[in-house]
Amino acid sequence: MSTPIQLEDIQAARTRIGPHIIPLRITSSPSLSEQFSCEILLAHEYLQTTGAFKLRGAMNSVLQLDPETTGVTAVSTGNHGRALAYSARQAGVPCIICMSELVPENKLKAIRALGAETRIIGKSQDEAEVEARRLVDEEGYTMIPPFDHPHVIAGQGTLGLEMLEQVPDVDTVLVQISGGGLVSGIALALKSQKPNVRIVGISMERGCAMAASQHAGKPIEVEELPTLADSLGGGIGLDNELTFDMVRDYVDEIILLTEDEIAAGIRHAYFEEQVILEGGGAVGIAALLTGKVTPGTKTIVLLSGKNIDMELHRKIINQEAYER
Ligand SMILES: *Cc1c(COP(=O)(O)O)cnc(C)c1O
Repeated sequence: MSTPIQLEDIQAARTRIGPHIIPLRITSSPSLSEQFSCEILLAHEYLQTTGAFKLRGAMNSVLQLDPETTGVTAVSTGNHGRALAYSARQAGVPCIICMSELVPENKLKAIRALGAETRIIGKSQDEAEVEARRLVDEEGYTMIPPFDHPHVIAGQGTLGLEMLEQVPDVDTVLVQISGGGLVSGIALALKSQKPNVRIVGISMERGCAMAASQHAGKPIEVEELPTLADSLGGGIGLDNELTFDMVRDYVDEIILLTEDEIAAGIRHAYFEEQVILEGGGAVGIAALLTGKVTPGTKTIVLLSGKNIDMELHRKIINQEAYER
């Protein structure tokens, strides 16, 4: 396939990050398999250290740093920030995560607990971004982006290798989409070995920049709205280099979900699978439940993360009113 990333890069990433990550666990879902009269398997990647798959891409990037670099930096308070902080500590590399004053205390603590320095700058993501750029330009740091980078995409793609190894006759895979690094890597790993696998991207109706961009035929910005799937928020970058094209070329369909549908996915995971998921982690299950996606004969549903505020989770489970 004609991308700057090849299957070999994903295979090399797997060897590189192998000692540092937890292998993917895939199990059959009796409840969903029975409901849809076909085999539905759950890929439990929320079991990954730091609670989400982003460790794969961050680790693959940190392990390939230029030895001259001072350290690594990113503007992220979510799963990418955690993953980078953890990876940097493993590799013995300094890490500064930049964020705005608006970041909640618990997120700040989570990043600090992983050993990273946090730098609180200004009242917006943009101001934090300026500080991260300054670290790169003036202090020799390397910025590790959350999705639009070959090392990150190859790292996330290792999930595709593990899926195919464990389930060689898989025909459909449900993967969440935000910036598109996750689905691009997985799709490349799967389709270069098994071109007929169907890749379904799942996101939320409230502000899916990738879906809007694909519709427009070029990267565009959308208004960011609060959503239960907060880890799927954010833009794809107007200067997107890789994931816009990869999603266009390898993702067969994109399904968008309402907030109520995402909440139903979180509840199903909890009551039927005994699994606690964040909104973004639950959208695959949610998409099946809505009937918006028809499963194949053998379908893998990726559960990508579990980092949800437990008070919010409790309210969703109890069907109480909640604020995002
Ligand atoms: C980041 C993230 C995604 C989306 O990954 P992209 O590479 O940005 O598309 C999905 N689920 C969780 C839990 C995440 O943290």
